[in-house]
Amino acid sequence: MMEYKKEFKFSCSNCGTCCKDVNTLVNVTYQDILRLKNGLHLTIDETLVILGFYIFDKTPSKEELKKMVVPPIETENGLAFLGLFKKKDGSCFFYDNKEKKCSIYQLRPNFCKTFPYSLKILQDPQTRERNGIEIYLTNKGKSYCKGISETNPLINKNYWVKLKKKLLNELKITIY
Ligand code: SF4
Ligand code: SF4
Repeated sequence: MMEYKKEFKFSCSNCGTCCKDVNTLVNVTYQDILRLKNGLHLTIDETLVILGFYIFDKTPSKEELKKMVVPPIETENGLAFLGLFKKKDGSCFFYDNKEKKCSIYQLRPNFCKTFPYSLKILQDPQTRERNGIEIYLTNKGKSYCKGISETNPLINKNYWVKLKKKLLNELKITIY
């Protein structure tokens, strides 16, 4: 059972820090891209404009690859991380600096919905079969998410597990 401690006391304050973090790349799944394309009525060329293909400086090791929820894609320039395009100031393409909010909130990728938590797929130690997921607070969440606070309510574990399952489902990763 998930242990309830301070890091599970969360309510998003809409501070926008995660959307403006220069060092955060927003991973997108194929389904996220389709949702954005259809929801924003984008052509293929316009869809390519909202995406960033971030080539890895060095090929990730097997261990690093295992930890990635979304595997990198192969490009002619090497393995790349596929995410939302970032503006010159490092903020997300869809962050509206004037309004100080996400301009596509209803369509935002699943990774945005699930920040500041990430997931770990659990395995049966004997059979190695996937048998559940566990959520945990990411290091980035720990370092700057203002929504994590002792004064905030405990998160609803079922809700977050459901979000994570949806993400895994979009990636066609079966856990049980
Ligand atoms: S899509 Fe929206 S919520 Fe996600 S990083 Fe960009 S601005 Fe933030
Ligand atoms: S950093 Fe945390 S509180 Fe701020 S917008 Fe992101 S999730 Fe919400």
